[in-house]
Amino acid sequence: MFDFSKQDPTIWNAIQKENNRQENVIELIASENIASQAVRAAQGSILTNKYAVGYPNKRVYTGNEALDIIDQVAKQRAEQLFHAEYANVLPHSGTQANQAVYSAFLNPGDRILSMSEHAGGHFTHGQKHNFSGQLYKSYFYGVDPQTELLDYDHIEEIAKEVHPKLIIAGASAYSHIIDWTQFRRIADEVGAFLMVDMAHIAGLVAAGLHPNPVAVADVVTSTTHKTLRGPRGGMILAKAKYADRLDNAVFPVSQSGSLEHVVAAKAIAYQEALQPAFKQYAQQVIKNAQAMAKVFNESNVVRVVSGGTENHEMTLDLNPVHMTGEQAANLLYSVGIATNKELLPLETGNTMEGIRIGTPTITSRHFDEAAAAKVAQLIVTVLSNPTDEVALKRASQQVQQLVNEHPIDR
Ligand code: PLP
Repeated sequence: MFDFSKQDPTIWNAIQKENNRQENVIELIASENIASQAVRAAQGSILTNKYAVGYPNKRVYTGNEALDIIDQVAKQRAEQLFHAEYANVLPHSGTQANQAVYSAFLNPGDRILSMSEHAGGHFTHGQKHNFSGQLYKSYFYGVDPQTELLDYDHIEEIAKEVHPKLIIAGASAYSHIIDWTQFRRIADEVGAFLMVDMAHIAGLVAAGLHPNPVAVADVVTSTTHKTLRGPRGGMILAKAKYADRLDNAVFPVSQSGSLEHVVAAKAIAYQEALQPAFKQYAQQVIKNAQAMAKVFNESNVVRVVSGGTENHEMTLDLNPVHMTGEQAANLLYSVGIATNKELLPLETGNTMEGIRIGTPTITSRHFDEAAAAKVAQLIVTVLSNPTDEVALKRASQQVQQLVNEHPIDR
């Protein structure tokens, strides 16, 4: 990176501090990852200097010859990667992708049906503290109280009562394969559009390790920075028949100039995800998560919500160790393990009695199942000895050893 330490020591030092943190922490936040050097180089490039308002060959300003190429290549690669008839790679974030889709398919006051936050849904799917819950009438489905899995018959019952205009499938904290065809069946039965938000699992879908929702849903949104390992951003995939209304919903309805440095970085990430090595990476993400779930299950110290994982993440129920998610996340962070507090499907309040664990970042650092199992064992040890200074010190030394053995690719 260009050394601007003398020009702006405050920001330079903050970046060094964050770099140091990333190197020395075992990062288990399920929505994070480590983008490649090429992705980061494009994102930090001179493309940030140029305005690109509108779509290729129909720009508001002159001088978009190079940016037209970038936009077109990024779009084509997204369509190729996800077998989509149409892609829009311009949304600045997952939230803006969702916002654009709602504005394309809904009018204010229309009913939407989505997964509750307790069950693992995202707050842009209709929560009251978000524009989506303020503009639209939101209704929620949860998971089966026994299995903690999606119960499609129950979702069908709710959909028949609510008659939503849009059903949203997809989650931020759900550790199992989602059957998009069941959602399609339900949406067709009640005459709703079906949107899938695959932000968390996009990399697994790209690698063919989770069913692809693109052919089944009317529209699919995603972020590009989670399992997909691209730059921070959003995208929309859909059937060609929705292209005009979605293009219009992104520009001019929900944004003006696109972030072409980010679009270029997205194009690189799509290309990376098309390589065989990415499939191996995604396979390892799942194997690592399953190796960790096995340790947790055998420990009897924490409970894995729904009993296991089929993807990159899982939620741990902390009731057996009498800790809140915040307490556990802070304790683990004190030894160098980063997680986040999480609601449990069955908790009655909003305390957040769980933590979420994800393996995308450690897998990018080449942790294998044995190393992932060691991390899980460290979590078990820390959570069962919260006040034992010696045990905590030993855990933090073991964290240092693991991060030293798995340096970040630079
Ligand atoms: N959708 C889902 C399922 C998510 O998990 C997230 C982010 O956590 C988003 C949307 C929002 O993405 P962004 O933070 O890029 O707005």
